[in-house]
Amino acid sequence: MPETVLPEGAAVADAPIPPAPDDVHTRVIDWFAEAARDLPWRRPECTPWGVLVSEIMLQQTPVVRVLPRWEEWLHRWPTPAACAAAPSAEILTVWDRLGYPRRALRLQAAAEAIVERHDGEVPADPEALRALPGIGEYTAAAVSCFAFGIPEVVVDTNIRRAHARIFTGVALPGQTYTAAQRRLARDLMPDTDDDGGRRACAWNAATMELGALICTARSPQCAICPVADLCAWRAAGSPPPTEEQKTRGQAWAGTDRQVRGAIMAVLRRGEPVQAETLLAGLPLPEAEDDQRRRCLDSLVRDGLAERRGDIVALPGVLGG
Ligand code: SF4
Repeated sequence: MPETVLPEGAAVADAPIPPAPDDVHTRVIDWFAEAARDLPWRRPECTPWGVLVSEIMLQQTPVVRVLPRWEEWLHRWPTPAACAAAPSAEILTVWDRLGYPRRALRLQAAAEAIVERHDGEVPADPEALRALPGIGEYTAAAVSCFAFGIPEVVVDTNIRRAHARIFTGVALPGQTYTAAQRRLARDLMPDTDDDGGRRACAWNAATMELGALICTARSPQCAICPVADLCAWRAAGSPPPTEEQKTRGQAWAGTDRQVRGAIMAVLRRGEPVQAETLLAGLPLPEAEDDQRRRCLDSLVRDGLAERRGDIVALPGVLGG
């Protein structure tokens, strides 16, 4: 049985007493077996490409918004080769309102690299995954684990928060993924000797789901939590987050992201449009001219739009 993991940096006398990881593993994995959402990228028939697409789409975007886009994406481009061959304008149109549309172009760039370097098959190896355009530490670990059963340490914001509460006794883990949190996540992984990593992968998936459904950032549902009696934060009396632990909410109204989103919504209609007409017609009365122009310029710079003279469109639409 793994040893109890003491929170890094806490004086032993003041530290909440963290539970034995093995007890938490069993509770959370059993809960997951009953309560997990039936998501298409979790089904056995889902391909590694389907898992990779889901992981990119789910970054900073809720499941409910991802589901229809994921279905459409996989329907149109069931393989990396199909995605790599698609016009970028179509890629951005199908991405629709998922937000952060550079992710769509990076996903297509990853598909191209998979075709070139891996004969069109998503690699299982986390290093090979990380070498793909736009694939970071988290996505590489998640794809290796969820698509191939390789017991990589997977840490997203939900997992980080659940670890912090259950084992460290704090309300929130803070903005930054610290070295101490990284060590804790690694130390918490179940042994892989006996089952080749099956339990470790289940732990990753189950903790992520616990953080998404029960141990949420704003209103943890401790009354129905499978580890309520083991949780160090609860045992400590559920202390509120410190200012340092609080994450800044992401503003939307009035931001460049909102203006960029409005411009992209017009371009996704598919027709080239006069820049001045487009910018003047944005349904954002608060946005100044300068901001509108700056946002259009940044979309062109990011490769999300192209401009010829005063005409703008999605990339590739204006032709050679
Ligand atoms: S008891 Fe509450 S804070 Fe602790 S893991 Fe469960 S939901 Fe989160």
